[in-house]
Amino acid sequence: MALVLIPNPSLTERTTLELGGTAEVEAVVHDKHDLDELGTFLTRETLRPFVIGEGSNLIAPDGHLDMALIRVNTTSGPERVEKVKDKLVVRCGAGQRLPGLLGWAQMAGLSGLEALTGIPGSVGGAIAMNAGSYGLEFGDLVTRIQLWSPAHGLFWLNADQCIFSYRHFSPGIHGGKCLIWKVELVLTEATPKSVRKNMQEFYEKKKATQPVTTKSAGCVFKNPEGESAGKLLDQAGMKGVRLGGMAFSDLHANFLINTGNGNSRNALELIEHGRITVKEKFGINLETEVIIL
Ligand SMILES: Cc1cc2nc3c(=O)[nH]c(=O)nc-3n(C[C@H](O)[C@H](O)[C@H](O)COP(=O)(O)OP(=O)(O)OC[C@H]3O[C@@H](n4cnc5c(N)ncnc54)[C@H](O)[C@@H]3O)c2cc1C
Repeated sequence: MALVLIPNPSLTERTTLELGGTAEVEAVVHDKHDLDELGTFLTRETLRPFVIGEGSNLIAPDGHLDMALIRVNTTSGPERVEKVKDKLVVRCGAGQRLPGLLGWAQMAGLSGLEALTGIPGSVGGAIAMNAGSYGLEFGDLVTRIQLWSPAHGLFWLNADQCIFSYRHFSPGIHGGKCLIWKVELVLTEATPKSVRKNMQEFYEKKKATQPVTTKSAGCVFKNPEGESAGKLLDQAGMKGVRLGGMAFSDLHANFLINTGNGNSRNALELIEHGRITVKEKFGINLETEVIIL
């Protein structure tokens, strides 16, 4: 299949917060045969490239952006690769949706991913952000990753050659700028029933404390060392604070939600308001977890 170029892609349609204007173009890669064309496109274009997954951790500004979005639409797998005792190596394309991978693992009776139940996004995004929940980070399960860069093509790196830390991933080589193409992770054999039970428990816990069904981009701020950003924002009185159609959630102060007609200007102003209020009250600098394009 050829590289597909979509002019003026809407960022509102491509982000879970449903905010933002348009980018100049979106280049959609379907399989490895498109990568040479992507390389040529990137050399030719002067636009700022940005790899977009499911847009569940992004805030896109209003208006038009001189950016080229790159989407990895590789949905190969998940598939079983090899069994080592009761452990199973599973391979999956970066364009797969994370909930889809979890659903497959549940049906296959493979345990390990349950704590990530309720996190939207793609597998590529889960690696790039080292997405985590209830003490588990995606990187904990990864054995190796296939990456691509225009200069080096496709190549595999073992997990120990990569840098995974709190909401951070870097390949550790080639200036850290690579497309995530495929991943292999290790899961443990269990039963579909036990995996489903664990997933349900994690989801119930999440639903009780986070606005999982409202338009958001997950947590706005990273937790500072030894602190909870949500608790700090709550104690600073930010729960429920609104500006236009944007608000800090009543349920969890670290979730910025779009109540229906929000815009990015209001979102960014509220984020700054939250950051300044916490700094003034507690002397703590909050760092954003969401990526502001
Ligand atoms: C309701 C809700 C709950 C959430 N709960 C959690 C949670 O509990 N824990 C948590 O960690 N996060 C959570 N999130 C945030 C978000 O879902 C994760 O960060 C997710 O992993 C992002 O994946 P994505 O595909 O949407 O990435 P995007 O938001 O599209 O992009 C995020 C980053 O990943 C990069 N990226 C995406 N795909 C690739 C690729 N193939 N190659 C290279 N780079 C890539 C992008 O360039 C960008 O830097 C939540 C979000 C929502 C809306």
